[in-house]
Amino acid sequence: MEYVVGARIHQLRTIDPGEIRLVQLVLPEEIEIAGKRYAIRDTMRPGTAFLAKPWGDRTGKYRRRMYTRSNASFNEPRVLETFINYTHRDQSDTSGWWQSEMATDWFEKGKTVEVRLQLDEERDVALVYENTKVCTPANLRLEDDGIWEGMRMVCVAFGTGITPFLSYARYLKSHNFGRKGARVGVHMTLVASVRQEGQLMLHEELVALEQQFPEHFRYQPVLTRSWPTAWAYLKGRILRVAHSMDGKDQIDISPFQTIVPDIAQSHFRVCGSVTACRQLTLGLEQEGLIPLTLRTESW
Ligand SMILES: Cc1cc2nc3c(=O)[nH]c(=O)nc-3n(C[C@H](O)[C@H](O)[C@H](O)COP(=O)(O)OP(=O)(O)OC[C@H]3O[C@@H](n4cnc5c(N)ncnc54)[C@H](O)[C@@H]3O)c2cc1C
Repeated sequence: MEYVVGARIHQLRTIDPGEIRLVQLVLPEEIEIAGKRYAIRDTMRPGTAFLAKPWGDRTGKYRRRMYTRSNASFNEPRVLETFINYTHRDQSDTSGWWQSEMATDWFEKGKTVEVRLQLDEERDVALVYENTKVCTPANLRLEDDGIWEGMRMVCVAFGTGITPFLSYARYLKSHNFGRKGARVGVHMTLVASVRQEGQLMLHEELVALEQQFPEHFRYQPVLTRSWPTAWAYLKGRILRVAHSMDGKDQIDISPFQTIVPDIAQSHFRVCGSVTACRQLTLGLEQEGLIPLTLRTESW
């Protein structure tokens, strides 16, 4: 049996018109199921995704879709924030709808989108469903408390692949980056690659975070297609692909290495499109670089 609850579209902010929107869904405090009331508890771990049922433009029906959360349940329980981009053009269904006037209309009318819950009958609570309960190389669920505090993480985001890392950054900040007594705490480098300046997500917040906590957080936004004259960060793709006749692409990651020279001493995390993630990890392999750990998630 799958349980869902209507979550109000609390924010629908356009980041890049027709391309990327910030979405916030707010869940009620409780839900009634079969005459019994359950408190809705939000314990989602940073890096995990929730399941919602938005409208599909192409198919004309509600669809089940996963979205990685960009805020943290710790600071904002029952407020599910994510960034949704318009993907795969002719095949797209819900991702186009999220950018549409119809979605704007739903937001303005305070309409709801269903979000999946998981009943915990023993504790009489309904938990916000999260896509994974364990850390694996193919997901980005943040390591347990007690582990991440000692890590040096390099996180690479392509487009809306930044969502899990925004959640990490907010969670780490709210836990003082794991500093306690003699323990120095975590270090996180975030490389966020987008096509142009207008696609940067929470740029000012991330710049401010780096200024406030330089010993724990480093932010390297990258613009691949166009950039303002005064752009102080990397311009162009972080990797170069040379296609060969035998189908074995050669990936040159030297642009990436100019901003992250110490990959082998890092816990490496990558999120974004299947192609971009595969190219980057293949580039590492071809360069003979083996990070301490490697975890990627692509969609
Ligand atoms: C764990 C997880 C987390 C996610 N988090 C986010 C997020 O934070 N933000 C976000 O915008 N999206 C995220 N997604 C993707 C999201 O769930 C949708 O799949 C996406 O928005 C496209 O939805 P759609 O309904 O338009 O297209 P879909 O109906 O999902 O896809 C349409 C068709 O496009 C093709 N297709 C699907 N995926 C690909 C692909 N990667 N490459 C090429 N063709 C493809 C398939 O043929 C498919 O039938 C996540 C997915 C997963 C699994």
